[in-house]
Amino acid sequence: MDDIHFFLAHAIQLEQESARRYEELADEMQTLGSPEVADFFRQMAHYSRLHLADAMARGGFHYPPKLRPEEYRWPDGTSPEAAAWGGVDAFMDVAGALALALDGEQRSCVFYREIAGQTVNPNVRLMAEEFAGEEAGHVAQLEARIARLAAD
Ligand code: ZN
Repeated sequence: MDDIHFFLAHAIQLEQESARRYEELADEMQTLGSPEVADFFRQMAHYSRLHLADAMARGGFHYPPKLRPEEYRWPDGTSPEAAAWGGVDAFMDVAGALALALDGEQRSCVFYREIAGQTVNPNVRLMAEEFAGEEAGHVAQLEARIARLAAD
């Protein structure tokens, strides 16, 4: 992935999906009677939207660029977020929700890392490394949350 706009189009799609899923999860946790976890997911959605806004600003986009579905280059043909959420059924407890969110963040992190390792464009590499770092931070936040849940 060597074109910066092409790369950003992927980042924007990924962050959009991520924010949407976190909001869905927050609603589910609220319904389940876990407002604290719901708040945590809302916070994560907020980070995804911030990241999205940042990616758009850097790309000079005023609205998210849309590629045709066949133009996206996702690993295994599906976005990291969609892959993580593929097997979700209607009911989910707190531990299941956190595990899913962790899976999504890990896949996103790997996605950016692979781009950083493969691109010949130094600007894409820099940005992909930075995005991978942000995703690694999200992974750490979720792991800490999961550890706390296990300790309770
Ligand atoms: Zn993330």
